[in-house]
Amino acid sequence: MKPAPFQYAAPETVDEAVMLLSEYGRDGKILAGGQSLVPLLAMRLARPSVLIDLNRIAELDYIRQTDGEVAIGAMTRQRTIERSGEVREHLPLWWEAVRYVGHPQIRNRGTVGGSLAHADPSAELPAAAAATGATLVTRSTRGERTVSAEGFFLSYLATALEPDELLVEVRIPAHARAGTAFLEVARRHGDYALAGVAAMVTMRDGRCEAVRLAFTGVGPVPVRVAEAEEPLIGRRPEESVYAEIARIVAGRLDPDSDIHASAAYRKDVAGVLTARALALAVSRAQEPMADSRSSMVDHG
Ligand code: FAD
Repeated sequence: MKPAPFQYAAPETVDEAVMLLSEYGRDGKILAGGQSLVPLLAMRLARPSVLIDLNRIAELDYIRQTDGEVAIGAMTRQRTIERSGEVREHLPLWWEAVRYVGHPQIRNRGTVGGSLAHADPSAELPAAAAATGATLVTRSTRGERTVSAEGFFLSYLATALEPDELLVEVRIPAHARAGTAFLEVARRHGDYALAGVAAMVTMRDGRCEAVRLAFTGVGPVPVRVAEAEEPLIGRRPEESVYAEIARIVAGRLDPDSDIHASAAYRKDVAGVLTARALALAVSRAQEPMADSRSSMVDHG
């Protein structure tokens, strides 16, 4: 199939893009990397009158460090963050998660903003956004707005973006010293996740200080299970605690069955992945603590 006819606009600045969005509203559609939108156009599941192509807007392509955060422009390619030493060091959870997105060819074109705005329930970056407490920045002719990841993802492929709003940036708290792990199960390498988990743990004196878990593929939006984070807080990590958390996760999640996997399978897999991800995250977080623990021993 081929797309229904549309007009094409290629703004060169954010101001021009938001003017076009304000003019066309629901009839306009943003084109970023095209990795999700172009198939939808070809199948005529999306039939915008005007395509607003962001690919000439250089000001949306950046990775910047600010006060304790890393800001990533919406048109930054997924491959760019995968290859970024800054992202690897300061945003290890994102660095790990992005490598599960499709294949290198897809990540060469696909953008960070496109993945977040598309909000596929099995996508990796929305779960990374939820686990790391990211903030999304939008622009329209009415001004700028910031939305928490939890407030941004509303339902299947639905976000808090208004028809005249552009997603311009995601701000992610730097978490270089936390232990992180992203694990998923997919049918084939590069497929969307049947179930996946993003885990972030901070440790102090051998005990777990804070835990954040976010799941993908098990609900309409990235799912947090606060109840599953509590058992580890203030405790020394042990296999038995991970097993307890895995049971809570499997009991609390309420995924749908579809042609790819049953709900029961998704719940089980999410539980197993959680236990593994927590063990991995804790092992990564403990490394910077090793010196201070031995110095405590030295000082008796
Ligand atoms: P586009 O396809 O251009 O746009 C997607 C949607 O977001 C459109 O509705 C568009 O209007 C809107 N949009 C884009 N940017 C903005 C913005 N700045 N402001 C407002 N709205 C915007 N993704 C995964 O997460 N995991 C996978 O495993 C995975 N596997 C894939 C496998 C294949 C074979 C393919 C083709 C794609 C796969 N994808 C996967 C999707 C891919 O990651 C896309 O890059 C992503 O979903 C959309 O990003 P994009 O830049 O291509 O956006």
